[in-house]
Amino acid sequence: MQNFTGVGVSPGRVIGTIRQMPKPVAEPPSGERLASGTAPEDAARDLKAAAQAVHDELKSRADTASGDGKAVLEATALMARDTMLLKSAVKLINAGSSAERAIWDAGASVSEMLHNLGGYMAERATDVLDVRARIVAALRGVPAPGIPASETPFILVAEDLAPADTATLDPDKVLALVTSGGGPQSHTAIIARSLGLPAVVAAHGVDELPESIEAYVDGAAGTIAIEPSEEQRAAASAWADNAATLAVFDGNGTTADGHPVPLLANVGGAKDAAAAAALGAQGVGLFRTEFCFLERDTEPTVEEQAAAYKGVFDAFPGKKVVLRTLDAGADKPLPFLTDATESNPALGVRGYRTDFTTPGVLERQLEAIAQAASESEADVWVMAPMISTPAEAAHFATLCAAKGIKTPGVMVEVPSAALTAAAVLRHVGFASLGTNDLTQYAMAADRQLGPLAALNSPWQPAVLRLVQLTVAGSAEEGNNKPVGVCGEAAADPALAVVLVGLGVSTLSMTARSLAAVGAVLRTVALEQARELAQLALSAPDAVDARAWVRAKLPVLEELGL
Ligand code: PEP
Ligand code: MG
Repeated sequence: MQNFTGVGVSPGRVIGTIRQMPKPVAEPPSGERLASGTAPEDAARDLKAAAQAVHDELKSRADTASGDGKAVLEATALMARDTMLLKSAVKLINAGSSAERAIWDAGASVSEMLHNLGGYMAERATDVLDVRARIVAALRGVPAPGIPASETPFILVAEDLAPADTATLDPDKVLALVTSGGGPQSHTAIIARSLGLPAVVAAHGVDELPESIEAYVDGAAGTIAIEPSEEQRAAASAWADNAATLAVFDGNGTTADGHPVPLLANVGGAKDAAAAAALGAQGVGLFRTEFCFLERDTEPTVEEQAAAYKGVFDAFPGKKVVLRTLDAGADKPLPFLTDATESNPALGVRGYRTDFTTPGVLERQLEAIAQAASESEADVWVMAPMISTPAEAAHFATLCAAKGIKTPGVMVEVPSAALTAAAVLRHVGFASLGTNDLTQYAMAADRQLGPLAALNSPWQPAVLRLVQLTVAGSAEEGNNKPVGVCGEAAADPALAVVLVGLGVSTLSMTARSLAAVGAVLRTVALEQARELAQLALSAPDAVDARAWVRAKLPVLEELGL
């Protein structure tokens, strides 16, 4: 049978059976009527039975789940028995609608009503849409949408995963993630790395694989092999042994010759921060504050914000925590800041730019940060996302100073900021390279799109050149400002070596990658890292840059990275 190649985004070698993520449930035809000869009472009875079955299935999954996943499943199970939802569907059936169409329309009205109520109720609006899709699937006798339920571990194959799928993804049941779509910076890639699961994205054709066949996945090589060979079985078993060593980071990032490279964590809130501290992170290099408020329709108060930020600061007393001000927009819309009707959101009013259209929010956020920082022992640095010009950097530094924030900085993720790094950095204390967006904007390739995955690689020599320019600008006369990396590139052990060779002083990544990056960095002296950086810069394309560097680092193959 055919083998598949995609882009490896999270290392690991495993063998398991394939389970396909069911396709989204298609909307029943608009205005679909009851089939002739079907009595409305019979259709209503079928609908209630389907809803009950959905409830029972979700409830039994909730009973064996834990944490966030349990809460999501319980809330969804309850929604399947919601009287308002079922009553309005039955009313539509009595007026002649088919059962599928009735629950679809009833779900839409209830969801809209909840959304308009705002707050906690608005957060339930998407649960209703999930429930109606599950009830339609039950009426049709097809698999329910979402992560399949299974007693035994499996390799999950999907087109791409949505952020909401994370909540119900049980890392003990999923051995690896493989998607036909998605790029290296897609949600699937980020979810896989944060859970420490091997993953391959943009593996065209995998969604046609039959259920339950055995496959071998190599998340570093980006390959999926059907009918695994003896050699592949041995590789999977060697990985299982290595994985234990690669799970522990000793909290000391350094090159072989003792050049310190603090390895920091990317976090989205207090829970992540506590987990990162437990995994040995030397601080936080990127606190994505917008993750604390993704569900909010209205601006959180200064007090609410301060409490959320303090939760992260308190996990790292005496250590550096780099907080990023709200990066709303594009793939992370916040209704109180962004315009959902923008036709080109990645190039729109996102990140720092929301201060142009909604002034005041940034200043109130800075006030909350200053308040939380004053009550904590963390060394708090604050940076703005999507800075494009020296004037923006200067304005941000002024706003920080007005609130008593001592270490303002910028993210360098727009090529113009990299090209004018010396001028940008004169106004602030540090820069952090956001290689996810820097790659997307340098290559003009949407970071979520599977067909553009090859363009969207931070190994692109053009992107490495922008990193080099940023470091050079930061070292210019009178500047001498530290430059870190907080994009996904820092979590790739081979690329991490190249970044250090380019002069980057800290690396920030999902906490699960700290041990692997630390283990590889420790085998390379600074001078060798510099040579590897030159080698990557001289490559004609991303594929060669990666292959040439990897060939010089045999430790990667030994560790299965
Ligand atoms: C980046 O762009 O590299 C980055 C770290 O920010 P985000 O992924 O949140 O856009
Ligand atoms: Mg970014």
